[in-house]
Amino acid sequence: MRLNEIYKEKLQISFEMFPEENISNVYNVLAELKKYNPSLVSLTYGAGGKNKEFSKEIITNLKSEFNLMPHFTCICNSKENVEKDIVTLENLGIKNILALRGDVPENNDICYLDFKHASDLVEFIKHKTDLSIGVAGYPEGHIESPDLDTDLKYLKQKVDLGADVIYTQLFFNNDKFYSFVEKVRKLGIEKPVIPGIMPIISAKQVNKMTSLARIEVPKIISEKLEKYSSSDLKEFGVEYASKQCEGLIDFGVKGLHFYTLNKSYSTSKILDNIL
Ligand code: FAD
Repeated sequence: MRLNEIYKEKLQISFEMFPEENISNVYNVLAELKKYNPSLVSLTYGAGGKNKEFSKEIITNLKSEFNLMPHFTCICNSKENVEKDIVTLENLGIKNILALRGDVPENNDICYLDFKHASDLVEFIKHKTDLSIGVAGYPEGHIESPDLDTDLKYLKQKVDLGADVIYTQLFFNNDKFYSFVEKVRKLGIEKPVIPGIMPIISAKQVNKMTSLARIEVPKIISEKLEKYSSSDLKEFGVEYASKQCEGLIDFGVKGLHFYTLNKSYSTSKILDNIL
C-alpha cells in the first residue's frame, strides 16, 4: 500500500528496522512484532556511514509479508546511481521510499554534488518513479539548522515537491511535537506527521542519539539514566514511551513509528500497554 493511502481513519503502527549483518535477527524481531499488524516496515540505509546500499535480500524476503519503505540517502550519490537504485526498488515491487539527504561525511570520500538536499532527491524520485515518498521532520529543528522556522521552510519545500508523509526524529518531550505540528499546519502543510518513538533501552543509546541530534532530554529521564540499572532503565523506558504514545494518540496522531533498534521487547510492551 502506498504511503498516501495508509493514514486514513485508524491509528497506524509502523516499525523501523536496520539491515544488520545477522539478518535472521531482523526476521525474528519482525516475526514477533507482526501480531501488531504494522501498516509499514521501514529499513534504514547507510545509517552511521555503514551499509550504503539497500539490502535486496531483506527486501526480497520481506516484501510479500510486510509493506516496506526502504530509506534512501542522496548525499555523495550521483544521479546515475540514484536512478539505477530507485528503479531497482520499483522493479522489486516497492511502493514507498523515505527520501533523505543523509549525514555529511567527515572523511574524504568521493562526494558527488548532484544532490545537496533531500528536496533535490524528492524532486528526482517524483520525476523518475511512481514511488510514494516519505521525508524526515525534526520537532526540535535539524542540528545544522539555525532555528526551527528555517528548518520548517525546507520541510515545506520537500512536501511541495511531492512528499506524502513526514516521519519525525525521536523526541522525549511531547510538547515539542505538538508545537511542531501546529507550526507545520500554519505553513499550510496538510500531510500526515507521524511521530518517531524510541523506547529508552540504555543510557549509552540515549547519549549517542542525543549527541548526534537536537533532542531535549527531560530531567526525569536524565536522572534515571544516572541512577537506574540497565533492566530498571528498560522498564522505565517502556513506561515513559507508553505515556508518550497515549498523549500523542489523544493529540490525534494518525500513526506511531517505532525505532525498534532491531529489538522487540520494549516495542511489544508499549503496544500491549496502549492498544
Ligand atoms: P534535508 O531535508 O536536506 O535537511 C538537512 C539540513 O539542510 C537541514 O538543516 C535543513 O534545514 C537544511 N536544508 C534543507 N534544504 C535546504 C535548502 N534548500 N537550502 C539550505 N538548507 C537546506 N540517515 C541515514 O543515513 N540513513 C537512514 O536510514 C536515516 N533514516 C532516518 C529516518 C528518519 C525518520 C529521520 C528523522 C532521520 C533519518 N536519517 C537517516 C538521518 C538523516 O539522514 C540526517 O538527519 C541528515 O542530516 C538530514 O537528512 P534530511 O533528509 O532531513 O535532510
